[in-house]
Amino acid sequence: MRAALIFPPQWDPRHPPLAPAVLAGALRSAGAETRIFDLNIALYRRLLMPTGPHGIEDFLLSRLLNPHSLCNAESYLQTCQQAQKIFDERFDRHGTGRLFWDTCGGLPSAVTSRGWQDSVHSPEKLIFLRHLESEIAEIRQWTPDLISISAISDTQLAATLALAALFRRALPDSRIILGGAAITYRRSILPAQAWLRSTIDAVCLGDGEPLMTALASGVAPNETPNSLSWNEAGAALFGTAILQDMSFLQPPDFSKFPLKEYLTPHLVIPVETARGCPWGRCAFCIHPVRAVTGRPLYRPRPMNLVAAEIAQHFIAGHRRFLIVDEALPPPRLRELADIFADLPEPVSWIGYSRLDAGHDREGFIRARASGCRKLFIGVESGSDRILTRFHKGVDAARARRVLLDAAAAGLAVHSFLMTGFPDEDESDRQATLDLLADAWPAFEPFGVSFDLFPLTGELETDLMANPPAFGWKGPQRDARNDLAWQFPLSHGPAAAESLAEFKSRIHKLADRVLGPAFGLRHASLAQDSLHLLLLEARTRKS
Ligand code: SF4
Repeated sequence: MRAALIFPPQWDPRHPPLAPAVLAGALRSAGAETRIFDLNIALYRRLLMPTGPHGIEDFLLSRLLNPHSLCNAESYLQTCQQAQKIFDERFDRHGTGRLFWDTCGGLPSAVTSRGWQDSVHSPEKLIFLRHLESEIAEIRQWTPDLISISAISDTQLAATLALAALFRRALPDSRIILGGAAITYRRSILPAQAWLRSTIDAVCLGDGEPLMTALASGVAPNETPNSLSWNEAGAALFGTAILQDMSFLQPPDFSKFPLKEYLTPHLVIPVETARGCPWGRCAFCIHPVRAVTGRPLYRPRPMNLVAAEIAQHFIAGHRRFLIVDEALPPPRLRELADIFADLPEPVSWIGYSRLDAGHDREGFIRARASGCRKLFIGVESGSDRILTRFHKGVDAARARRVLLDAAAAGLAVHSFLMTGFPDEDESDRQATLDLLADAWPAFEPFGVSFDLFPLTGELETDLMANPPAFGWKGPQRDARNDLAWQFPLSHGPAAAESLAEFKSRIHKLADRVLGPAFGLRHASLAQDSLHLLLLEARTRKS
């Protein structure tokens, strides 16, 4: 079997995506001939190609890819902004689409079935696909038996659907499967979208490996595990739900990725040590995978397999890693630190964590000594009332203690913060500001960063299952959001103004306690690898 694994635009062009690498590992072990088509990085690269002999593109690219450029973070980010101007000029010259480093705008709606149908019925309207004509032609000429398109973000959905439609027309005998978080988050609402059956053979609703392995061994798409498909009458067909046994997980295969193409001075390799969240109870979070009992399901990989995978990456020359797990529990953070510390040369890494009681200064010191630079943590709020109501499993006192321990260990922390909770009042917001005011002065100012999100109701969460229990009326669902997986609790100018006002107060607090000098909080970075590279370069400089 020939399998084309496609990663469509738009996603962060600075590091290779894990999802197609995981599928490539599974398909390779099942004996399939597999090729990776990262159309996202192909698009960014195409847009940055020089149009004449004295274009600025070569200069910008050399700055973007030069490790020494990282030593001046502000200057490096200015280079990114200059490249942004080129994206603006070239991405969708006559359309409404906008391409950024971290997102994409102006495309058919990702949250309405009408938007999905627009992408399928008029793929040529996605003007930016013209930049990918040669890659699309290459896939067609290869005539794969299987085309798998991974959409891990809503920003990829328009291209995912348009590409599926193009390949359905050009390669009617190829099987087309869609997967990734942007698909699985919608697992409860996709069965009603039977019209998709004319364009795709199935979508993957869970772990991709069992589905891919079954396809490679000749099982029909509608009989593969974890699949959703539709029969001719439009009835939804569900494959058997199978959880991938983490003890038998094949290592992800990056060998066929265009690793020299990513727009970064150093590759940061994603590593998955577990699936699901060890806590899994936050009332607003769609991330937890639930067992049949309804309880959260945390599936760690045996650490010897994690160590073997990291060792393979090290042998391949990689020295920087992003641990993609939802949250590293304290024992796993320590074990992982030991794995990195045992490598023959120093490495750097970042990951996600919770404010678990078991995290302490000693564990963080061990992580920092092994090369951990920064942890991304869902702090959400400093209000105990809100933390309790939304089952965060943390109170502000513990949050303070854990953040101060991380600071004492020399780690940087990115805080995910939330606002817009029903009946949130000034005392709740002040509690968040007080928490940050106590914790931030203990950190090295450059590495401190945060995001402030408005609370949304997400499918399959406690908040969506029983909105009144959380003081919410629930979402209004109609044709304007029939394929949305998250719903704002408050709308309109007043909500936007309230969000902006709180964000401004947090920035003012940061300026007061951290000083006015440039830091990562000014860089508006998503939780991406650039945090790691800029922190590492700064440490080297000092
Ligand atoms: S918000 Fe974080 S800690 Fe809470 S369930 Fe989601 S992933 Fe887990």
